[in-house]
Amino acid sequence: MAQGGLNSSVQNNKPNPKSPTASLFSIRQKIAQHRKSLPIASVEKRLIEEVQKNDILIIVGETGSGKTTQLPQFLYNAGFCQEGKMVGITQPRRIAAVTVAKRVAEECDVELGQRVGYSIRFDDTTSTSTRLKYMTDGLLLREALLDPHLSRYSVIIVDEAHERTVHTDVLLALLKKVQRARLKPVGENGPQQNSVLRGCQGRKISPLKLIIMSASLDARVFSEYFGGAKAVHVEGRQHPVDILYTAHPESDYIDAALVTIFQIHLEEKVGDILVFLTGQDEIESVERLVQERLQHLPEDKRKLLPLTIFSALPSEQQMQAFAPAPTGFRKVILATNIAETSITIPGIRYVIDPGFVKARSYNPSKGMESLDVVPASKAQTLQRSGRAGREGPGKCFRLYPEREFEKLEDSTKPEIKRCNLSNVILQLKALGIDDIIGFDFIDKPSRGSIVKALEELRLLGALTDECKLENPVGYQMSRLPLDPVYSRALILANQMNCLEEMLITVAVLTVESIFYDPREKREEARASRNHFASVEGDHLTYLSVYRESDEFLEKRKVAGSENKIDKIMKKWCKDNFVNSRSLKHARDTYRQIREHVEQMGFTVSSCGNDMLEFRRCLAASFFLKAAQRQLDGTYRALESGEIVHIHPTSVLFRSKPECVIFNELMQTSKKYIKNLTIIDPLWLTELAPHHYKSAEPV
Ligand code: ADP
Ligand code: MG
Repeated sequence: MAQGGLNSSVQNNKPNPKSPTASLFSIRQKIAQHRKSLPIASVEKRLIEEVQKNDILIIVGETGSGKTTQLPQFLYNAGFCQEGKMVGITQPRRIAAVTVAKRVAEECDVELGQRVGYSIRFDDTTSTSTRLKYMTDGLLLREALLDPHLSRYSVIIVDEAHERTVHTDVLLALLKKVQRARLKPVGENGPQQNSVLRGCQGRKISPLKLIIMSASLDARVFSEYFGGAKAVHVEGRQHPVDILYTAHPESDYIDAALVTIFQIHLEEKVGDILVFLTGQDEIESVERLVQERLQHLPEDKRKLLPLTIFSALPSEQQMQAFAPAPTGFRKVILATNIAETSITIPGIRYVIDPGFVKARSYNPSKGMESLDVVPASKAQTLQRSGRAGREGPGKCFRLYPEREFEKLEDSTKPEIKRCNLSNVILQLKALGIDDIIGFDFIDKPSRGSIVKALEELRLLGALTDECKLENPVGYQMSRLPLDPVYSRALILANQMNCLEEMLITVAVLTVESIFYDPREKREEARASRNHFASVEGDHLTYLSVYRESDEFLEKRKVAGSENKIDKIMKKWCKDNFVNSRSLKHARDTYRQIREHVEQMGFTVSSCGNDMLEFRRCLAASFFLKAAQRQLDGTYRALESGEIVHIHPTSVLFRSKPECVIFNELMQTSKKYIKNLTIIDPLWLTELAPHHYKSAEPV
């Protein structure tokens, strides 16, 4: 593998805040200085030369060196956006696409959505003037459905490729094909004529440049995949980081993290703290606990400001983490693994790493996907500690004994090997790629999981018995930006006249958790939410939360200003133990999916109070995830035969009905099913006869 060895020698030449001229620096000058001080700035010219020379370039660089924010601007300045062409930058995570695009718009001194914009599922800020487009990898895959040559792009940067999300992996394979197709004169009969070339209308399309960017040091796998593509390194500046371990394993890492936060706050020198947690619930609970414990400290010791970063956080709040803390305050940023490499928050000196991450896992033989909290890999752990040493020497507190570190996996297994593939396979089929088993994946998913996904798509009615995408339902499903099972639910609901109810349900199911469930106040939360609870299950409960919030808003809308409404809505959420961030996210999602289905020609109708019909529709949609009570009170998932338990947060936890459908399986101490609705087992044979006719469920 060729190594470019682009070392940086630029010294940090930030303005000295003590100099008398410092106050004269405008924000613009400060930004310009910051940009110049980044390691990547000194190698701009050479990087551009490498891009000009190589159609595929791999750039490996330490986190925070400026790859994501600077390289697209270099390309813009070097003329890669002439004649209306765009540079597309993909990110595995929505929140990274949003925060980075905002930052780059600020650096370019343009309004977001003009030269610089982002586009993520359900939120597109781009316009015809956009030249630097940040987006999720999944979104670019969807764009390929409409524009198989991705002809508006001169360069596509696949960022954070080391994350190896399933979308990144599929995108890399697709881009390889698109790049080859764009090298050929259009109209020539190439082997891809029936696949990605489909849809080309005899135009001459310029070649496509591909840049693969990654934070980890092993570029070999990408280089080999792209036939020995050139790889260059951009060096960062890393200061020493002291790694501290606990003497014994911690039984409660949340509590251990809290103790450590306060220990740092009270005993260590200035510098912000970054804590890696596994998800929104955990982050919000730690945020609350920090606030509470601060109240017990003397007034002068309370200058600790908790801030949060996770994917569902509205973007205004995401940006708060980047702002410097008020004078005398120390920030403590509570983040998911998004802060490992995707975004770099300035000022961090201390990292707290409990050593866990939320990850998907999939058992193809049982067809069961679950989202579990698992130990992080060594590579992740090293990235996490590295965050403490960007601006000076730092400390990383690993909340486990040193011997545990040795037991960690070296790196995270690519997601494609541990997830349900029905979503991407449907998209590949829609792109005209029929031979999924022979497809050029960077890491092949197991044959078993491909077969299982094809089978699932067949059962959902998306594919024919020969596994071809030919019927209208399949095309409709591939067009909706949702999991196939949710797309199918909307199509069915349209036929069963409960589309309105299903739209709300699907919107709520796509956000992390609509309820605010502080573990220390679980009973109180349950009691105050009682009036929403439906004896028939969680889906109907979500429906009534959503509808009540709707009515509440409707009543106030006439009177208040936007700000005031926001405030009283938050109060309503607090009183009812509803998570206001999640509710807002669900409302936005609802609007967007509704637009999609309306564009597909559906009329949104409601079944009114006929909840029986809606439950039948849920059964018809989610028949693959049905579970039946057994004599010992546990449940058996009908499809996989697994023994599962109703999650304590379900409204059906106590009533233990005979038969339910569910949406989520989660493994913690036991296998739990979440988001349940009671069904009549006979509905399964009636509504999904193709699946249940021989396998009698009762
Ligand atoms: P890389 O992609 O190499 O990890 P980035 O381009 O994301 O690096 O970040 C470069 C620098 O820009 C970092 O020092 C980071 O702190 C800073 N930065 C990025 N986003 C923001 C933001 N929203 N506000 C302030 N600084 C930011
Ligand atoms: Mg980056």
